[in-house]
Amino acid sequence: MARLLLFDIDGTLLDTGGEGGRALLDAVEEVFGVPRDSVPKLELAGATDGGITRQIMRHLGRELHAGDVEPYHRSYLRHLQRRLGDPAFSGTLLPGVKALLPVLHAAPQVHLGLLTGNLREGAGHKLRRFGIQEFFTEGAFGDDAEDRNLLGPIAHRRMERALGVTCAREEIIIIGDTPKDIACARACGARCIAVATGAFARHELEAHRPWLVLDSLEDGAFLSAAGIGG
Ligand SMILES: [Mg+2]
Repeated sequence: MARLLLFDIDGTLLDTGGEGGRALLDAVEEVFGVPRDSVPKLELAGATDGGITRQIMRHLGRELHAGDVEPYHRSYLRHLQRRLGDPAFSGTLLPGVKALLPVLHAAPQVHLGLLTGNLREGAGHKLRRFGIQEFFTEGAFGDDAEDRNLLGPIAHRRMERALGVTCAREEIIIIGDTPKDIACARACGARCIAVATGAFARHELEAHRPWLVLDSLEDGAFLSAAGIGG
């Protein structure tokens, strides 16, 4: 039976050191001509990029028009790429990720995918920056829906199609760092492993009753939970 592990990106696999959020504000300045200081603090954790764009437009007192979204996303992606390539970039992979991914990737019947609020292209920029894009087959992204709870079935379907396998919902594990990842897993009948490496502490994640909570992906309990080894 194939097992799908669907990973969130920010706060779960990596930390851009705030460059993702800064790139969003670069694009606000460039496309809307609004100084970044006038945008209130954005709720980024667990949000989709489309949802974040809507937050920004609301702050600016503007309707979100289809015509605004494309130039805004183009600008964001360009600034993100620039910031990720900056010699002073201070982002990191989160603890355990570098060692874990090759082990999971090598396990028969285990397939790795993405379930992230990042735009597909932005997800690619972030993963390539750390050389981990090759581990992931397919996924669902911020371009697919503004509501994260809609992303699970999309990732499931794409993974099955890409791999040429069928996979029961009970064999899907979603790995993320926020209550929104936990809710997203619940919405599609998958299990959730929540990791306290993002904006939420262990006890805050536990309050949302995921299947399992770990301090980080360094915890050996991840492998047994994923059905690998002892
Ligand atoms: Mg996250």
